[in-house]
Amino acid sequence: MKLITQAALIVLLLQLTFISFCQASESTNPLSVGESISDGNRLLHAPVISILPIDPDLLVLISNLKEALVDRHKVDTALAQFTSAQVSLNAAEQYLLLVAQALLKEHISDKNVGYINSNDIVALLEPAAMLAEKISEVQLAQPNFLKLHLMLADHYAKLDKYDLAYLEKKAYLKKYYVYRKNKRLAMIDSLEQSFEVTNKKANNSLMESQNELKIRRVAQVEGEKATQQYNFTLIISVAIVFILLFFRQLRIRNKLIKLTRIDPLTGLANRSVLFEHGEKMVSSFVEQPEELSVLLLDIDHFKKINDNFGHNVGDEILRIVSQLVKETMRSRDEFSRLGGEEFVALLPFADSNKAKAIAMRINSKIAQYDFSSLMLQRRVTISIGVATMRGSHMSFDDLLHCADLAMYQAKEQGRDTVVCYQNIAAVQERRVNTNLLQP
Ligand code: GH3
Ligand code: MG
Ligand code: MG
Repeated sequence: MKLITQAALIVLLLQLTFISFCQASESTNPLSVGESISDGNRLLHAPVISILPIDPDLLVLISNLKEALVDRHKVDTALAQFTSAQVSLNAAEQYLLLVAQALLKEHISDKNVGYINSNDIVALLEPAAMLAEKISEVQLAQPNFLKLHLMLADHYAKLDKYDLAYLEKKAYLKKYYVYRKNKRLAMIDSLEQSFEVTNKKANNSLMESQNELKIRRVAQVEGEKATQQYNFTLIISVAIVFILLFFRQLRIRNKLIKLTRIDPLTGLANRSVLFEHGEKMVSSFVEQPEELSVLLLDIDHFKKINDNFGHNVGDEILRIVSQLVKETMRSRDEFSRLGGEEFVALLPFADSNKAKAIAMRINSKIAQYDFSSLMLQRRVTISIGVATMRGSHMSFDDLLHCADLAMYQAKEQGRDTVVCYQNIAAVQERRVNTNLLQP
């Protein structure tokens, strides 16, 4: 019997040492409490009883009693309050109230009597242990609730009830393991949560930075696009203005060229074009078997027309005459205004007969025209001199001069007629010969 008592004491001491170690190290190795692991897991999966609320004053009272900070008066008052309201207390509070009473009893007995009556303590704690089935396993694993098992184990041991003491210790260890495990899991949970929060914050700030970067990039691209559009519009506008200016300049240039080459009154080629084309034509007919004829036309008494009917009528007559003559020309002929009321027609591949025929056709066409709407005097007449070159080597000036001589001859012959230079030359030649023959 004595041996059994000693063995039980040794087991109890070992258990106490283990508990101290666990409390001191704050880390429990689950493998060291082999049986407790499975029990702990079982507790974790036990049917859930909700955590019961505990009056904070009761928690303060227990904490003070555990640390032996006992103000007797205050403790008595508090205990009296809780005891009187015992009916309204929930199972957990009743449990803790009994523990508090037991702690107070321990404290008072220890201080006043010098020894503790374990029976009294056990008498308070055993009813508390009965309330455990109404309290959730998680709540029972909290230190304030675990205290009951330590106290019971202690007092059972003092009462030599080692089996019961052992069982209380075992119960304590099981619940303490659950408490530690839950605490660890809660800590891991909170660490994970804080890690997730930090991670989320970092991700958020990264996304914000990326968004900001995107916004800036979009703004930059839009800016570049706007600049490109502006430049494109500018280039197009400048190009359009340039093209418009170019065409305007071209029009002005053409107009100027036209003005320098076209007689504005009649629309015929002017004197400079006449000489340019005349010289070219003459040089192409030099020493050729084909003939080139020139007509020089001069309106008769044009000064009188101007004087009698005004320059406007004179201008209109110049226009009409030039139009009528132009209509008489062949497609290869060129008709120009020499100046004043004088005109010149270049008739390539026309001998003097052909040229004379054309000149007479001109005269008859003008004679047929009715000028009465412009002036009282119905008739406008023209004197025409004809000069023809064939195979000879002469200039345009020479040819024109010949036509001029012929035209003056026509004036002398009474106007409104056609004279060929060849006829004048033949007459002059005859005259010279006759003079030479006379003594
Ligand atoms: P003739 O029969 O001898 O040729 O006499 P004419 O009066 O025709 O010749 P003249 O040389 O004496 O006069 C020519 C006139 O033509 C003088 C001038 O005022 C006129 N004249 C010259 N150019 C123009 C013109 O462009 N418009 C008008 N209305 N008259 C012009
Ligand atoms: Mg004249
Ligand atoms: Mg004249």
